[in-house]
Amino acid sequence: MTKKIYLDNNATTPCDPRVVQKMLPYFHEISGNAASRNHPFGWQAEEAVDYARGQIADLIEVDPKEIIFTSGATEADNLALKGVFEMYKRKGNHIITLETEHKAVLDSCKKIEKMGGEVTYLPVKNDGIVDLEVLEKAIKDNTILVSVMYANNETGVIQPMKEIGEICKKHGVLFFSDAVQAVGKIPVKPKELGIHIMAFTAHKMYGPKGVGALFVNRKNPRVKVTAQMDGGGHERGMRSGTMNVPGIVGFGEAAAIAKKEMAQDAERLSKLRDKLEQAFLDSVEEVYPNGNRENRMPHVANISFKHVEGEGLMMTFNQTIALSSGSACTSASLEPSYVLVALGLGDDLAHSSLRFSLGRFNTEEEIDAVIDMVSKGVQHMRDLSPIWEMYKDGVDLESIEWSEH
Ligand SMILES: *Cc1c(COP(=O)(O)O)cnc(C)c1O
Repeated sequence: MTKKIYLDNNATTPCDPRVVQKMLPYFHEISGNAASRNHPFGWQAEEAVDYARGQIADLIEVDPKEIIFTSGATEADNLALKGVFEMYKRKGNHIITLETEHKAVLDSCKKIEKMGGEVTYLPVKNDGIVDLEVLEKAIKDNTILVSVMYANNETGVIQPMKEIGEICKKHGVLFFSDAVQAVGKIPVKPKELGIHIMAFTAHKMYGPKGVGALFVNRKNPRVKVTAQMDGGGHERGMRSGTMNVPGIVGFGEAAAIAKKEMAQDAERLSKLRDKLEQAFLDSVEEVYPNGNRENRMPHVANISFKHVEGEGLMMTFNQTIALSSGSACTSASLEPSYVLVALGLGDDLAHSSLRFSLGRFNTEEEIDAVIDMVSKGVQHMRDLSPIWEMYKDGVDLESIEWSEH
Protein backbone atom coordinates (compact mmCIF):
# COMPACT_ATOMS: atom_id res chain seq x y z
CA MET A 1 0.00 0.00 0.00
CA THR A 2 1.42 3.36 -1.03
CA LYS A 3 1.49 6.20 1.47
CA LYS A 4 -1.52 8.50 1.33
CA ILE A 5 -0.96 12.10 0.27
CA TYR A 6 -3.08 14.80 1.87
CA LEU A 7 -3.74 17.75 -0.44
CA ASP A 8 -7.03 18.89 1.09
CA ASN A 9 -5.66 21.42 3.58
CA ASN A 10 -8.43 23.93 2.82
CA ALA A 11 -10.91 21.42 4.26
CA THR A 12 -8.86 21.03 7.41
CA THR A 13 -5.19 20.97 8.34
CA PRO A 14 -3.56 18.25 10.43
CA CYS A 15 -2.95 19.50 13.97
CA ASP A 16 0.73 20.38 14.37
CA PRO A 17 2.39 17.92 16.84
CA ARG A 18 3.81 20.94 18.74
CA VAL A 19 0.24 22.15 19.22
CA VAL A 20 -0.89 18.73 20.49
CA GLN A 21 1.95 18.73 23.06
CA LYS A 22 0.85 22.10 24.45
CA MET A 23 -2.76 20.96 24.72
CA LEU A 24 -2.24 17.68 26.55
CA PRO A 25 -1.83 18.95 30.17
CA TYR A 26 -5.12 20.84 29.89
CA PHE A 27 -7.21 17.69 29.60
CA HIS A 28 -6.32 16.30 33.03
CA GLU A 29 -3.63 18.01 35.12
CA ILE A 30 -4.91 21.53 34.57
CA SER A 31 -8.57 20.86 34.08
CA GLY A 32 -10.38 23.72 35.77
CA ASN A 33 -13.21 25.79 34.38
CA ALA A 34 -11.83 29.15 33.28
CA ALA A 35 -14.92 30.80 34.78
CA SER A 36 -14.31 29.38 38.28
CA ARG A 37 -13.12 32.45 40.18
CA ASN A 38 -12.64 31.00 43.66
CA HIS A 39 -9.92 28.36 43.37
CA PRO A 40 -6.54 27.80 41.69
CA PHE A 41 -7.94 25.23 39.22
CA GLY A 42 -10.07 27.95 37.67
CA TRP A 43 -7.32 30.57 37.86
CA GLN A 44 -4.84 28.33 36.04
CA ALA A 45 -7.34 27.62 33.27
CA GLU A 46 -8.16 31.31 32.99
CA GLU A 47 -4.47 32.16 32.84
CA ALA A 48 -3.98 29.66 29.99
CA VAL A 49 -6.94 31.13 28.08
CA ASP A 50 -5.60 34.66 28.58
CA TYR A 51 -2.18 33.62 27.33
CA ALA A 52 -3.67 32.03 24.20
CA ARG A 53 -5.88 35.07 23.64
CA GLY A 54 -2.71 37.15 23.65
CA GLN A 55 -0.99 34.85 21.14
CA ILE A 56 -3.98 35.02 18.79
CA ALA A 57 -4.37 38.79 19.15
CA ASP A 58 -0.66 39.13 18.45
CA LEU A 59 -0.97 37.19 15.18
CA ILE A 60 -3.56 39.60 13.76
CA GLU A 61 -2.27 42.67 15.67
CA VAL A 62 -5.37 43.48 17.68
CA ASP A 63 -6.13 43.97 21.39
CA PRO A 64 -6.69 40.65 23.22
CA LYS A 65 -9.97 42.11 24.53
CA GLU A 66 -11.20 42.10 20.93
CA ILE A 67 -11.02 38.29 20.61
CA ILE A 68 -14.25 36.36 21.31
CA PHE A 69 -13.79 32.58 21.41
CA THR A 70 -16.34 30.37 19.65
CA SER A 71 -16.68 26.72 18.63
CA GLY A 72 -15.32 27.47 15.16
CA ALA A 73 -15.79 29.73 12.19
CA THR A 74 -19.31 28.55 11.40
CA GLU A 75 -20.39 29.85 14.79
CA ALA A 76 -18.27 33.01 14.40
CA ASP A 77 -19.87 33.72 10.98
CA ASN A 78 -23.35 33.22 12.46
CA LEU A 79 -22.54 35.42 15.46
CA ALA A 80 -21.11 38.19 13.30
CA LEU A 81 -23.92 38.34 10.75
CA LYS A 82 -26.96 37.66 12.93
CA GLY A 83 -25.37 39.52 15.85
CA VAL A 84 -24.81 42.67 13.78
CA PHE A 85 -28.26 42.41 12.22
CA GLU A 86 -29.96 42.21 15.61
CA MET A 87 -27.78 44.92 17.16
CA TYR A 88 -28.09 47.43 14.31
CA LYS A 89 -31.43 46.68 12.67
CA ARG A 90 -32.95 49.91 13.93
CA LYS A 91 -30.28 51.71 11.89
CA GLY A 92 -30.91 49.66 8.76
CA ASN A 93 -31.65 46.13 7.61
CA HIS A 94 -29.52 45.75 4.48
CA ILE A 95 -26.44 43.51 4.19
CA ILE A 96 -24.17 43.09 1.15
CA THR A 97 -22.21 39.91 0.51
CA LEU A 98 -20.83 37.85 -2.41
CA GLU A 99 -22.23 34.84 -4.27
CA THR A 100 -18.94 33.04 -3.64
CA GLU A 101 -19.00 33.20 0.17
CA HIS A 102 -18.83 30.12 2.38
CA LYS A 103 -22.14 28.41 3.21
CA ALA A 104 -21.82 29.53 6.84
CA VAL A 105 -22.14 33.12 5.57
CA LEU A 106 -24.71 32.47 2.83
CA ASP A 107 -27.00 30.40 5.03
CA SER A 108 -26.78 32.95 7.85
CA CYS A 109 -27.80 35.60 5.31
CA LYS A 110 -30.72 33.44 4.17
CA LYS A 111 -31.87 33.24 7.80
CA ILE A 112 -31.50 37.01 8.18
CA GLU A 113 -33.78 37.48 5.15
CA LYS A 114 -36.40 35.38 6.97
CA MET A 115 -35.90 37.62 10.01
CA GLY A 116 -36.84 40.70 7.97
CA GLY A 117 -33.43 41.61 6.59
CA GLU A 118 -32.56 42.46 3.01
CA VAL A 119 -29.45 40.87 1.52
CA THR A 120 -27.68 41.65 -1.77
CA TYR A 121 -25.56 38.80 -3.15
CA LEU A 122 -23.03 40.37 -5.50
CA PRO A 123 -21.57 38.50 -8.47
CA VAL A 124 -17.80 38.31 -8.97
CA LYS A 125 -15.73 38.80 -12.11
CA ASN A 126 -14.45 35.81 -14.08
CA ASP A 127 -11.30 35.77 -11.98
CA GLY A 128 -13.33 35.49 -8.76
CA ILE A 129 -12.70 39.05 -7.58
CA VAL A 130 -15.50 41.46 -6.72
CA ASP A 131 -15.91 44.56 -8.88
CA LEU A 132 -15.36 47.46 -6.46
CA GLU A 133 -17.61 49.83 -8.41
CA VAL A 134 -20.44 47.32 -8.28
CA LEU A 135 -19.87 46.91 -4.56
CA GLU A 136 -19.90 50.64 -3.86
CA LYS A 137 -23.06 51.13 -5.94
CA ALA A 138 -24.82 48.42 -3.95
CA ILE A 139 -24.51 50.44 -0.72
CA LYS A 140 -27.80 52.13 0.20
CA ASP A 141 -29.07 54.31 3.03
CA ASN A 142 -30.22 51.24 4.95
CA THR A 143 -26.99 49.26 4.49
CA ILE A 144 -25.42 48.29 7.82
CA LEU A 145 -22.86 45.66 6.85
CA VAL A 146 -20.63 44.47 4.02
CA SER A 147 -19.50 40.84 4.36
CA VAL A 148 -16.64 39.75 2.09
CA MET A 149 -14.45 36.72 2.68
CA TYR A 150 -10.72 37.36 2.71
CA ALA A 151 -9.62 34.37 0.62
CA ASN A 152 -11.88 31.88 -1.10
CA ASN A 153 -11.76 28.30 0.15
CA GLU A 154 -12.23 26.76 -3.32
CA THR A 155 -10.02 28.97 -5.50
CA GLY A 156 -7.72 30.68 -2.99
CA VAL A 157 -8.56 34.04 -4.61
CA ILE A 158 -7.88 36.99 -2.30
CA GLN A 159 -10.31 39.92 -2.37
CA PRO A 160 -9.11 43.57 -2.36
CA MET A 161 -9.69 43.97 1.37
CA LYS A 162 -8.05 47.37 1.82
CA GLU A 163 -10.11 48.94 -0.98
CA ILE A 164 -13.31 47.40 0.39
CA GLY A 165 -12.39 48.71 3.85
CA GLU A 166 -12.03 52.22 2.43
CA ILE A 167 -15.41 52.03 0.69
CA CYS A 168 -17.06 50.86 3.93
CA LYS A 169 -15.42 53.66 5.90
CA LYS A 170 -16.49 56.29 3.35
CA HIS A 171 -20.12 55.16 3.60
CA GLY A 172 -20.12 54.51 7.35
CA VAL A 173 -21.01 50.82 7.13
CA LEU A 174 -19.47 47.96 9.09
CA PHE A 175 -17.10 45.56 7.36
CA PHE A 176 -17.10 41.87 8.30
CA SER A 177 -14.78 39.25 6.82
CA ASP A 178 -14.69 35.47 6.99
CA ALA A 179 -10.90 35.25 7.01
CA VAL A 180 -10.65 31.51 7.75
CA GLN A 181 -8.50 30.71 4.74
CA ALA A 182 -6.10 33.62 5.18
CA VAL A 183 -5.31 33.88 8.90
CA GLY A 184 -2.10 32.06 9.80
CA LYS A 185 -1.10 31.63 6.14
CA ILE A 186 -0.51 35.23 5.06
CA PRO A 187 -0.23 38.39 7.21
CA VAL A 188 -3.76 39.49 8.11
CA LYS A 189 -4.13 42.83 9.92
CA PRO A 190 -7.80 43.80 10.22
CA LYS A 191 -6.99 47.21 11.77
CA GLU A 192 -4.90 48.22 8.76
CA LEU A 193 -7.62 47.09 6.36
CA GLY A 194 -10.63 48.68 8.03
CA ILE A 195 -12.15 45.30 8.93
CA HIS A 196 -14.38 45.70 12.02
CA ILE A 197 -15.35 42.06 12.59
CA MET A 198 -13.49 38.97 11.45
CA ALA A 199 -14.00 35.21 11.79
CA PHE A 200 -11.32 32.54 11.79
CA THR A 201 -10.76 29.02 13.07
CA ALA A 202 -7.97 26.90 14.56
CA HIS A 203 -8.36 23.77 12.42
CA LYS A 204 -7.51 25.55 9.16
CA MET A 205 -4.18 26.74 10.61
CA TYR A 206 -2.76 23.55 12.14
CA GLY A 207 -4.70 23.87 15.39
CA PRO A 208 -7.45 21.63 16.78
CA LYS A 209 -11.01 21.32 15.47
CA GLY A 210 -13.91 22.82 17.39
CA VAL A 211 -12.44 26.18 18.35
CA GLY A 212 -12.56 29.48 16.52
CA ALA A 213 -12.69 33.20 17.16
CA LEU A 214 -14.43 36.39 16.22
CA PHE A 215 -12.46 39.63 16.27
CA VAL A 216 -14.76 42.48 17.27
CA ASN A 217 -13.37 46.03 17.06
CA ARG A 218 -13.62 47.88 20.39
CA LYS A 219 -12.67 51.45 19.48
CA ASN A 220 -13.37 53.78 16.53
CA PRO A 221 -15.89 52.38 16.02
CA ARG A 222 -16.94 50.39 19.07
CA VAL A 223 -18.73 47.41 17.54
CA LYS A 224 -21.17 45.17 19.36
CA VAL A 225 -22.87 41.99 18.30
CA THR A 226 -25.96 40.53 19.95
CA ALA A 227 -25.18 37.18 21.58
CA GLN A 228 -26.71 34.21 19.77
CA MET A 229 -26.49 31.94 22.80
CA ASP A 230 -27.96 32.73 26.19
CA GLY A 231 -26.13 31.67 29.33
CA GLY A 232 -23.42 32.78 31.71
CA GLY A 233 -22.43 35.90 29.80
CA HIS A 234 -18.89 34.77 29.01
CA GLU A 235 -16.71 36.60 26.47
CA ARG A 236 -17.92 40.10 27.36
CA GLY A 237 -21.51 38.97 27.05
CA MET A 238 -21.17 38.06 23.38
CA ARG A 239 -20.72 34.30 23.66
CA SER A 240 -21.86 32.24 26.62
CA GLY A 241 -20.54 28.77 27.28
CA THR A 242 -17.69 27.10 29.17
CA MET A 243 -14.38 27.79 27.45
CA ASN A 244 -12.77 24.93 25.51
CA VAL A 245 -9.51 25.36 27.43
CA PRO A 246 -7.36 22.69 25.69
CA GLY A 247 -8.67 23.81 22.31
CA ILE A 248 -7.96 27.46 23.04
CA VAL A 249 -4.46 26.63 24.29
CA GLY A 250 -3.85 24.75 21.02
CA PHE A 251 -5.31 27.62 18.97
CA GLY A 252 -2.90 30.01 20.74
CA GLU A 253 0.11 27.82 20.06
CA ALA A 254 -0.94 27.39 16.42
CA ALA A 255 -1.11 31.20 16.15
CA ALA A 256 2.35 31.63 17.70
CA ILE A 257 3.84 29.05 15.32
CA ALA A 258 2.09 30.69 12.35
CA LYS A 259 3.48 34.08 13.26
CA LYS A 260 7.01 32.67 13.30
CA GLU A 261 6.79 30.32 10.33
CA MET A 262 4.14 31.54 7.91
CA ALA A 263 6.54 33.47 5.67
CA GLN A 264 8.78 30.45 5.11
CA ASP A 265 5.80 28.08 4.77
CA ALA A 266 4.21 30.37 2.19
CA GLU A 267 7.40 30.65 0.18
CA ARG A 268 8.00 26.91 0.13
CA LEU A 269 4.37 26.02 -0.62
CA SER A 270 3.98 28.57 -3.41
CA LYS A 271 7.01 27.04 -5.15
CA LEU A 272 5.51 23.57 -4.85
CA ARG A 273 2.08 24.80 -5.96
CA ASP A 274 3.59 26.57 -8.98
CA LYS A 275 5.58 23.47 -9.87
CA LEU A 276 2.41 21.37 -9.75
CA GLU A 277 0.33 23.79 -11.80
CA GLN A 278 3.06 24.42 -14.36
CA ALA A 279 3.63 20.69 -14.83
CA PHE A 280 -0.01 20.25 -15.86
CA LEU A 281 0.03 23.34 -18.08
CA ASP A 282 3.21 22.11 -19.79
CA SER A 283 2.41 18.48 -20.32
CA VAL A 284 -1.34 17.89 -20.21
CA GLU A 285 -3.72 19.19 -22.90
CA GLU A 286 -6.72 21.41 -22.17
CA VAL A 287 -5.88 22.46 -18.64
CA TYR A 288 -7.53 25.56 -17.16
CA PRO A 289 -6.50 27.11 -13.82
CA ASN A 290 -9.50 28.78 -12.15
CA GLY A 291 -9.48 32.18 -10.47
CA ASN A 292 -7.04 35.07 -10.39
CA ARG A 293 -3.52 33.70 -10.25
CA GLU A 294 -1.79 36.84 -8.92
CA ASN A 295 -4.10 37.58 -5.99
CA ARG A 296 -4.27 34.09 -4.65
CA MET A 297 -3.25 32.14 -1.57
CA PRO A 298 0.23 30.64 -1.94
CA HIS A 299 -0.82 27.03 -1.33
CA VAL A 300 -3.93 26.65 -3.51
CA ALA A 301 -4.48 25.70 -7.14
CA ASN A 302 -7.91 25.02 -8.64
CA ILE A 303 -7.59 23.44 -12.06
CA SER A 304 -10.08 22.15 -14.64
CA PHE A 305 -9.05 19.23 -16.86
CA LYS A 306 -11.46 19.61 -19.76
CA HIS A 307 -13.70 16.61 -20.56
CA VAL A 308 -12.46 14.73 -17.50
CA GLU A 309 -14.95 14.40 -14.69
CA GLY A 310 -13.22 15.31 -11.41
CA GLU A 311 -14.89 12.71 -9.19
CA GLY A 312 -14.05 10.01 -11.72
CA LEU A 313 -10.47 11.23 -12.02
CA MET A 314 -10.05 10.95 -8.26
CA MET A 315 -11.06 7.29 -8.42
CA THR A 316 -8.05 6.59 -10.64
CA PHE A 317 -5.79 7.57 -7.72
CA ASN A 318 -7.15 4.61 -5.80
CA GLN A 319 -7.57 6.76 -2.70
CA THR A 320 -3.89 7.60 -2.43
CA ILE A 321 -4.41 11.36 -2.91
CA ALA A 322 -6.91 13.33 -0.84
CA LEU A 323 -8.34 16.26 -2.82
CA SER A 324 -11.61 18.06 -3.44
CA SER A 325 -13.42 18.21 -6.76
CA GLY A 326 -15.59 20.96 -8.22
CA SER A 327 -18.67 18.86 -7.64
CA ALA A 328 -20.71 19.11 -4.47
CA CYS A 329 -22.67 16.12 -3.29
CA THR A 330 -26.28 17.04 -2.57
CA SER A 331 -28.85 14.52 -1.41
CA ALA A 332 -29.65 13.15 -4.84
CA SER A 333 -27.06 14.38 -7.30
CA LEU A 334 -23.68 15.91 -7.96
CA GLU A 335 -24.03 19.66 -8.34
CA PRO A 336 -21.29 21.81 -9.87
CA SER A 337 -19.60 24.03 -7.29
CA TYR A 338 -21.56 27.29 -6.95
CA VAL A 339 -18.27 29.13 -6.52
CA LEU A 340 -16.93 27.98 -9.90
CA VAL A 341 -20.30 28.64 -11.55
CA ALA A 342 -20.12 32.21 -10.16
CA LEU A 343 -16.76 32.57 -11.96
CA GLY A 344 -18.59 31.83 -15.20
CA LEU A 345 -17.52 28.23 -15.64
CA GLY A 346 -20.00 25.98 -17.41
CA ASP A 347 -21.20 22.89 -15.57
CA ASP A 348 -18.76 20.69 -17.52
CA LEU A 349 -15.65 22.70 -16.61
CA ALA A 350 -16.81 23.02 -13.00
CA HIS A 351 -17.32 19.25 -12.75
CA SER A 352 -13.88 18.71 -14.28
CA SER A 353 -12.02 20.73 -11.66
CA LEU A 354 -9.82 19.62 -8.81
CA ARG A 355 -8.73 21.72 -5.86
CA PHE A 356 -5.16 21.14 -4.72
CA SER A 357 -4.61 22.71 -1.30
CA LEU A 358 -1.12 22.19 0.07
CA GLY A 359 -0.01 22.45 3.66
CA ARG A 360 2.90 22.60 6.07
CA PHE A 361 3.42 18.84 6.06
CA ASN A 362 3.55 18.24 2.31
CA THR A 363 6.90 17.39 0.75
CA GLU A 364 8.34 17.87 -2.74
CA GLU A 365 8.35 14.07 -3.25
CA GLU A 366 4.61 14.05 -2.63
CA ILE A 367 4.04 16.81 -5.17
CA ASP A 368 6.12 14.93 -7.74
CA ALA A 369 4.05 11.81 -7.13
CA VAL A 370 0.82 13.82 -7.49
CA ILE A 371 1.96 15.34 -10.79
CA ASP A 372 2.64 11.84 -12.07
CA MET A 373 -0.61 10.25 -10.84
CA VAL A 374 -2.87 13.10 -11.95
CA SER A 375 -1.28 13.35 -15.40
CA LYS A 376 -1.65 9.61 -15.90
CA GLY A 377 -5.19 9.65 -14.52
CA VAL A 378 -6.25 12.39 -16.92
CA GLN A 379 -4.72 10.47 -19.82
CA HIS A 380 -6.44 7.28 -18.73
CA MET A 381 -9.86 8.95 -18.46
CA ARG A 382 -9.46 10.61 -21.84
CA ASP A 383 -8.35 7.36 -23.48
CA LEU A 384 -11.65 5.84 -22.38
CA SER A 385 -13.78 8.83 -23.32
CA PRO A 386 -15.79 9.01 -26.55
CA ILE A 387 -16.24 12.75 -25.89
CA TRP A 388 -12.49 13.25 -25.85
CA GLU A 389 -12.13 11.20 -29.06
CA MET A 390 -14.75 13.35 -30.78
CA TYR A 391 -13.03 16.48 -29.53
CA LYS A 392 -9.68 15.20 -30.92
CA ASP A 393 -11.39 14.44 -34.21
CA GLY A 394 -12.38 18.07 -34.40
CA VAL A 395 -16.09 17.58 -33.74
CA ASP A 396 -17.67 20.77 -32.38
CA LEU A 397 -19.14 19.37 -29.16
CA GLU A 398 -21.29 22.45 -28.60
CA SER A 399 -23.17 21.76 -31.84
CA ILE A 400 -24.14 18.20 -30.97
CA GLU A 401 -27.77 17.54 -30.13
CA TRP A 402 -27.77 14.85 -27.49
CA SER A 403 -30.73 12.52 -27.51
CA GLU A 404 -32.97 12.63 -24.48
CA HIS A 405 -33.43 8.87 -24.50
C1 LIG B 1 -13.85 25.89 7.02
C2 LIG B 1 -14.48 27.19 6.76
C3 LIG B 1 -15.47 27.69 7.59
C4 LIG B 1 -16.06 26.88 8.73
O1 LIG B 1 -15.17 26.78 9.81
P1 LIG B 1 -15.45 25.74 11.00
O2 LIG B 1 -14.47 26.12 12.05
O3 LIG B 1 -15.17 24.40 10.40
O4 LIG B 1 -16.86 25.89 11.42
C5 LIG B 1 -15.98 28.94 7.33
N1 LIG B 1 -15.53 29.68 6.30
C6 LIG B 1 -14.57 29.23 5.48
C7 LIG B 1 -14.10 30.09 4.35
C8 LIG B 1 -14.02 27.97 5.66
O5 LIG B 1 -13.08 27.54 4.83
